[in-house]
Amino acid sequence: MNHFDYLDGELHCEGVSLTDIARDVGTPVYVYSSATLERHYNVFAGALNASPALRSPKGEAPLVAYAMKANSNLAVLRTLALQGCGADTVSEGEIRKAMTAGVPAEKIVFSGVGKTDAEMAFALKAGIYQLNVESRPELDRLARVAASLNMIAPFVIRINPGVGSGGHAKITTGGARDKFGISAEEALKLYADAAAHRNLAPVGIACHIGSQITDLTPLQAAFSRMKGWVEALRAEGLSVERLDLGGGLGVPYFNQPAPPHPVDFAEMAALTVGHLGLRYTFEPGRVIAANAGVLVSRVVHVHERIDSGQKFLVLDAAMNDLIRPALYDAYHDIRPVAAPTNDDSDIYDVVGPVCETGDTFTRNRELPRLRAGELVAFMSAGAYGAVMGSEYNSRPLAPEVLVRDGGFAVVRPRPSYDEMMAREPLPQWLEMGLEMGLDLGPELGLEPQGTRPRAASA
Ligand SMILES: *Cc1c(COP(=O)(O)O)cnc(C)c1O
Repeated sequence: MNHFDYLDGELHCEGVSLTDIARDVGTPVYVYSSATLERHYNVFAGALNASPALRSPKGEAPLVAYAMKANSNLAVLRTLALQGCGADTVSEGEIRKAMTAGVPAEKIVFSGVGKTDAEMAFALKAGIYQLNVESRPELDRLARVAASLNMIAPFVIRINPGVGSGGHAKITTGGARDKFGISAEEALKLYADAAAHRNLAPVGIACHIGSQITDLTPLQAAFSRMKGWVEALRAEGLSVERLDLGGGLGVPYFNQPAPPHPVDFAEMAALTVGHLGLRYTFEPGRVIAANAGVLVSRVVHVHERIDSGQKFLVLDAAMNDLIRPALYDAYHDIRPVAAPTNDDSDIYDVVGPVCETGDTFTRNRELPRLRAGELVAFMSAGAYGAVMGSEYNSRPLAPEVLVRDGGFAVVRPRPSYDEMMAREPLPQWLEMGLEMGLDLGPELGLEPQGTRPRAASA
């Protein structure tokens, strides 16, 4: 369920008209619903909290560590943090953002296959909950970093359970040939070695098999293997306190099979790995954020090719704003912001203005008839949308807006062209012509560009 609905013939977010937001902030623009973010977190965490089988020996509910790579806007994080949500992070930048948004260190997990020494040191000093170690060389470096700080590093080992799943090959992570995690055999050995190291505290194991998973079967298969490995470690006399089961639960993208409800997911988890006397961690990303956001874009024009008869709906949003269709063949429902007043429709190829054939959101999609200047919304764009944005083709990053209680705030403004240029200082040897008055801006009647920063000379 989400809070994007038609009201008086126009698509609204929590009672705020997307037309009004587009008028005030411009397009393309990402719009997020606070109520939907909160609801998704509470439904997911609530389902897990309701299960006695998933309580730790101390009675703690599972840690829900939102996988913030899905949407790491500070206002989104703060909204979730205020609900009690933790954070699954993959870089020092993400740890810093989580802490800035008020996520307590003891609710932060640090994942990723290539953490640098500096990032590990930062995480240890910050006192985060655990590092999820993905390989032997990483564990060796963690031991050295922890020793140099005279600290003990709490970590879990990410096992690749050999069960890959996900909506697309590029978001499948648990297959035996994917780069993530290590085999169970190696993990068990590493775990035993680490238990003897004075700067390492192996506290458990982790897995994450993929994303946009719409069937509980592969998750259950992976979880049940994880249970076997917990038991195997304990049989060796090793202590196991934590089990991190990753994320991956899918969301409805309209043309796909309906994903399992979090209640069914929690029930499956409880039946498969419950009552092990562990503290459980879950790392949902997409299921929290995807349907809490839309990308609003304006139709630039409709171009009909005489030769092929194709109709191209050319938008002011492009692959630099929302890359999922180009990267993963992802499907997004596209809705006109103004509800259609008749049944006229057309078959469109929906494209952006970027100079790449890949800048095609969808082909041969039947949509209500649209005209230049009208607004459309890409639904389910709250996860892996704005975070993957770039300024390819020198298009400013799309702004982000957060709606709450009938009002909204711009939580990442669109950069001005001056700001974009200020990020690229010219070295002194290239400044000359510009300083000598060859800047044609004033002659052409352009706004002054402000002072251009100068690159520090090496
Ligand atoms: C991406 C990722 C997640 C979140 O995946 P979703 O499909 O968005 O739920 C969780 N854990 C890890 C380690 C990840 O890399």
